[in-house]
Amino acid sequence: MNPFQPFYNMKIGVVDLSVSSAEVIPLDQEQVSRYLGGAAMNSAILEGYQTDALVFGTGPLTGSFAPASSLMIASFASPIFKRLCHVPLMLRTGPDMKFSGVDYLVVKGTAPEQSILHVNHGKLRILPAGNLQHMPVPEAIRELKKTSPAFQSVILMGPAADRGVPYASVSIGQNGSLDKAGLASLMAAKNLKGIMLGGTDGLPFNRDNPHQGKELEKIISTDKNFKHRGFHSVLKKLEGGKDAGKFFKASRKKDMACYHCPSPCMTHVRYSWQDPRNKEIQNSEEGLLLLDHAGCIALAKKVGKNILPALRACLHYGLDPAAVAEMIPEGGTMLEYLNAIDKVMSDNPPRTTDVPETYRLFGGGIPPILTGDLWEKRIGLAMILGVCPIFLLRFPQITDAALLSFISASEDVLKTMQERLSSAISSLLSPL
Ligand code: SF4
Repeated sequence: MNPFQPFYNMKIGVVDLSVSSAEVIPLDQEQVSRYLGGAAMNSAILEGYQTDALVFGTGPLTGSFAPASSLMIASFASPIFKRLCHVPLMLRTGPDMKFSGVDYLVVKGTAPEQSILHVNHGKLRILPAGNLQHMPVPEAIRELKKTSPAFQSVILMGPAADRGVPYASVSIGQNGSLDKAGLASLMAAKNLKGIMLGGTDGLPFNRDNPHQGKELEKIISTDKNFKHRGFHSVLKKLEGGKDAGKFFKASRKKDMACYHCPSPCMTHVRYSWQDPRNKEIQNSEEGLLLLDHAGCIALAKKVGKNILPALRACLHYGLDPAAVAEMIPEGGTMLEYLNAIDKVMSDNPPRTTDVPETYRLFGGGIPPILTGDLWEKRIGLAMILGVCPIFLLRFPQITDAALLSFISASEDVLKTMQERLSSAISSLLSPL
């Protein structure tokens, strides 16, 4: 019996944008047994395609009852870092892809006109992106909700990528992401506006999994990281995070978690502001989901108390706040910052971002909550099994054996999976 069967649809969607074709092929069982999933499987799948292919993949635990099973991974040759990168995408993207009937999605070629994919019930559709090009991200999402087939999650590139700005970053819904490796730029090069995931189906998983999930939650519930929740709880652990945290003044806050995450590290904030470019409009109230710790620290260092409107401007355009921070001067007014962000869009300056090599492999946005070997191994584990990498950095007491035991209780199977997981993590990390 294949222990992965209840965890996967055992299907790969393959789209060739250049000829507008889409098919669903079986997932290779041998390959899954060898690489388990996630970034390791994505790499193996990519080998069978041309170098400009892009693979979105899940891990065996994505969408399951394992805690923080929210992860999807995009793997591609990064046009920014000039190497293979694996970008983590959280919130509901991973579960929604699985619950749309495919475990992996390969995107080949370039569409003759800007297109958007819709996936649901194991079927792939390539649709024209219509008037979405150059539309700010929140507006584009509103438009999609009105005009497209229903979806639970959407991964979108914004007007920054439309214009070829190398600071572009994909957005999950209107919330931004940890893409600092040019996933948005590659999608723009393919004329791929986004991917909508219907997410209306499900998978059986194993009968004991809900109980196992609760047991793991019990283990971490006494950890101080479990009690200290929200965006600030991670921010303050990072260099410059305590200083940055002072600027996130909001009228209302609510900690938010991704799919099946028992300990949120994101916070939704509401704030009121006056747009200095339009003084006729009274103060308006806005809401933002804070999820990019490294990006927010970098931007707050430059714009101080103007962080929320500046971050909002980045997210509207689909820009990486960390990369934008390198382009804007310190000590300005809100008007100067907003104009500087507009100028990044209009001037399209060359990219200078210097992300340390260690973090490039995994997209440049996963915060250094742990460092060195420990960071790499925890991220490798997360990116193969489909569990959030930030969660596994925050809770190092969750072992690889505990996670693998969701897939099988058999000692022999566990031993084999453990060996294969170690080898898959080593291969993933070996380019570093
Ligand atoms: S740790 Fe944060 S990013 Fe990860 S699943 Fe939980 S809320 Fe989402």
